[in-house]
Amino acid sequence: MILGSIALSYYWGSRKPAAISPNSTLPLNATQPPDHNLTQTNLQAAWTEFVDVVGKDNVSTSEGDLQSHSGSDWSSYTTKEHEKPFLIVFPNSTEEVSRIVKICHDRRIPVTAYSGGTSLEGHFSATRGGICMDFSRMDKILKLHKEDLDVVVQPALGWELLNEELATEGLFFPPDPGPGAMIGGMVGTGCSGTNAYRYGTMKEWVLSLTVVLADGTVIKTRQRPRKSSAGYDLTRMFIGSEGTLGLVTEATLKVTVKPKSESVAVAGFSTIREAAECVAKVVGEGVPIAAVEVLDNVQMRCINESGSTSRTWKEVPTLFFKFSGTPTAVKEQISIVQKLAKSKGSKSFDFAKNADEASELWSARKEALWSVMAKRRDDNDHVWTTDVAVPISRLPDIIEETKEDMASSGLLAAMVGHVGDGNFHGKQAKASFFLIIDVNGTSYNSIQRERTQDRRRRSASDGEASSRNGRNCHRRTWGWPGQTRLPRS
Ligand SMILES: Cc1cc2nc3c(=O)[nH]c(=O)nc-3n(C[C@H](O)[C@H](O)[C@H](O)COP(=O)(O)OP(=O)(O)OC[C@H]3O[C@@H](n4cnc5c(N)ncnc54)[C@H](O)[C@@H]3O)c2cc1C
Repeated sequence: MILGSIALSYYWGSRKPAAISPNSTLPLNATQPPDHNLTQTNLQAAWTEFVDVVGKDNVSTSEGDLQSHSGSDWSSYTTKEHEKPFLIVFPNSTEEVSRIVKICHDRRIPVTAYSGGTSLEGHFSATRGGICMDFSRMDKILKLHKEDLDVVVQPALGWELLNEELATEGLFFPPDPGPGAMIGGMVGTGCSGTNAYRYGTMKEWVLSLTVVLADGTVIKTRQRPRKSSAGYDLTRMFIGSEGTLGLVTEATLKVTVKPKSESVAVAGFSTIREAAECVAKVVGEGVPIAAVEVLDNVQMRCINESGSTSRTWKEVPTLFFKFSGTPTAVKEQISIVQKLAKSKGSKSFDFAKNADEASELWSARKEALWSVMAKRRDDNDHVWTTDVAVPISRLPDIIEETKEDMASSGLLAAMVGHVGDGNFHGKQAKASFFLIIDVNGTSYNSIQRERTQDRRRRSASDGEASSRNGRNCHRRTWGWPGQTRLPRS
């Protein structure tokens, strides 16, 4: 017996640890799949523990809540029947989030974060069940440091509300994705918006984050000072990680001074190529406009037919320009852009004479997605959004070729281009396509064909599959390099 235990101890003591792989990356198929415990007994027991943390009014199992937290009409990803959370929990503080996550960690229950629910590609679908963490009770501005031009906020504060509050102090927070989007989700997706042309995307506007990690540990990525190059840039690692690395419970955001004057102009062209060439010209000349968006003739028709704006638009390829700065600078920019548009063949150029006219002109751009969705014939019709980012010199070609493919596919396909999206200095352009597809019908095959061509065109243009989102469900089907290998940690 004694000899036996000595021999066993010797054996264990002399065992070498498994060799560490010398590779820097790990193929996805070599990773261990997560081992969740989704038994009813485990989930029910967790439910009781969540109630102890947040109270029973902050936990919901109502069917309506479960459905609305599983997907949306505007998401390209069609949620499958079983992709539903077991419950929704509504925490009130970082401490509550941490305690809930600890319970889930101990019980091996997956957690999906939810803020505004406006993301477009299945980001918050509960593909592995588990629970959904809805941040809507954490929607406050915690502290505005006016002199330092930063603001500390909770994750469920919407960007529109933040801007209403900031405007009273003459300040402004530029990232402007979908209406209703909130800071937690905007960090999650690393969003952009129409203002990205001038101001960059979300990653330029986040100074620091408080994050709850998968085991409930709370970290703060850094302090408030703007300049710091010490160590890893943890803040940016979380931006665009879609809740997979941790849950954001507080964000310190940069803000800027609100421009003194703003205006909008709309230019109509005979062809989409002319419109795209005009954009390349305006960007190439370095005119400091605030935003420029391309809407094609189909998109303009959808807007007219939806009746959602007060004016009727010419159904031609159209550029929407936003200008900001001092009143003199705005006037000068409008005049330069008008000349450049004319040189590229514009047939009309209308600019707003006051703030009401500016918001009326810009309203068409804001209605783009909803007006295409209004064209659905029945529940089988689904809106599908997709986008590509290319160097700006390739924009006219990629738009023209894609339009031809769309026309031959037989799909209703409208186009909105965030030109200069996210990378003014890098001169990138993004084109988004909203399509109506019949999810049960032949148009699904057309989509598959279209995606293959899209990939071919994008690679030929040194472009990206998406400038918008990361590793969401929708794009998983189509695969891209980031999905095949994971960096080793
Ligand atoms: C009409 C319309 C126009 C749009 N225009 C644009 C555009 O111009 N540019 C653009 O980039 N996007 C655009 N979007 C998409 C969408 O608005 C953005 O992706 C936005 O950033 C999502 O924010 P949300 O609060 O709705 O996030 P949600 O949809 O709630 O979540 C998005 C992702 O973030 C994760 N998440 C949510 N909260 C947290 C948290 N607290 N911590 C960690 N992860 C979290 C979620 O799990 C999910 O993966 C548009 C959408 C619509 C409907």
